[in-house]
Amino acid sequence: MNHITNPAIKTLTISLIFLYFLPLQCQTNYQSNLRVSEKVAFFHFIDRISAWSPYCDAERVDLEYLGIPELSNEDKIILIRYASARKPLNHGAETDLFLWAEQGFPMQNKPAEYATLKAAVEYFFAKTEFREPLSRRMHALEQIAPRINDEFLLIDAKIASLHGIVNVFLTNNSKKWNEIPIFLVYTLSAKHSQGGANGDGIFAEVDPSESPQKISHQCGVFLHEALHQSLHPRQAFIEFTCHGKGGRETSLCEFLKAIAPDERGDYESAMLDEILVYTISNVILEDKDPQTEFEHACRSGDKQLARLWDGVQILLPTIRQQIEKPLSKDLFLQQLIEIFVSKVHFKVWKSPCAKAAA
Ligand SMILES: [Zn+2]
Repeated sequence: MNHITNPAIKTLTISLIFLYFLPLQCQTNYQSNLRVSEKVAFFHFIDRISAWSPYCDAERVDLEYLGIPELSNEDKIILIRYASARKPLNHGAETDLFLWAEQGFPMQNKPAEYATLKAAVEYFFAKTEFREPLSRRMHALEQIAPRINDEFLLIDAKIASLHGIVNVFLTNNSKKWNEIPIFLVYTLSAKHSQGGANGDGIFAEVDPSESPQKISHQCGVFLHEALHQSLHPRQAFIEFTCHGKGGRETSLCEFLKAIAPDERGDYESAMLDEILVYTISNVILEDKDPQTEFEHACRSGDKQLARLWDGVQILLPTIRQQIEKPLSKDLFLQQLIEIFVSKVHFKVWKSPCAKAAA
């Protein structure tokens, strides 16, 4: 039955219906920046077996697990050529290379090395014994992608409740965590699943046959890396203490710029950055118990990790307070940094591991 005969009224009614549905669509049509592309996953596989960097050692790719036969001499020559073209681009190019792969490897305005990379990917993709087992793996990954997206939806809702702390670190140029490209690729071995945050994006290997709990844990890893990239806490700490008004915080600046004399030699500002991100992602959003994590780090004998988890326990009340009753940005940073410098800094921290074991 159509009672509307006047075309103007009809148009109005249609646009009203449209407006009514629009907000609903915005709420339900949540899109994280999850990227699932066969080209990216295949490129990632070639990147790893080429072993261009010591971080992509060949042991972490298990051809038997992937259902791929041993490499021929010709395959090895192609991979050596790939590795020498890939090396000068370094780890920082990773996200750009993934985006390039996703677009289908266009060669416009690309340096000469890209042609070598593309030729290697095409060479292996043309081989059925490589393409087919990996395509099947890709298909399984595509099946679980909506579940991963649902996990991100839950995380997004939780983050919305943390604006008191998140706002301290967001700047005009900050990306929201869900705007950061997240590349989902299949695992290349049963023993290792790697991930990384090189360039402006993140990638993680996921085994599609894993339990839902393990996959949900993997989403937590994505979130952790995305928070580092979106909030850049280290930059905020350095800006606040080293470029503060009138240089009033110079001593704190020096403390944060100090390098801990352990085998990793990280800056103390990076340690505070890590503590903040662990507290938000692993403890507040994922309900990990920092005391248990601290004891675990003590048992494994990892001193820096033990200091990190001890730091999480020490700074947790200040961070929680900022979520529940936010102070001004300056006051919060001042408090956080002062507590860190007086209790967690490598110059004052004494390992409470022995006490934890007693
Ligand atoms: Zn981290």
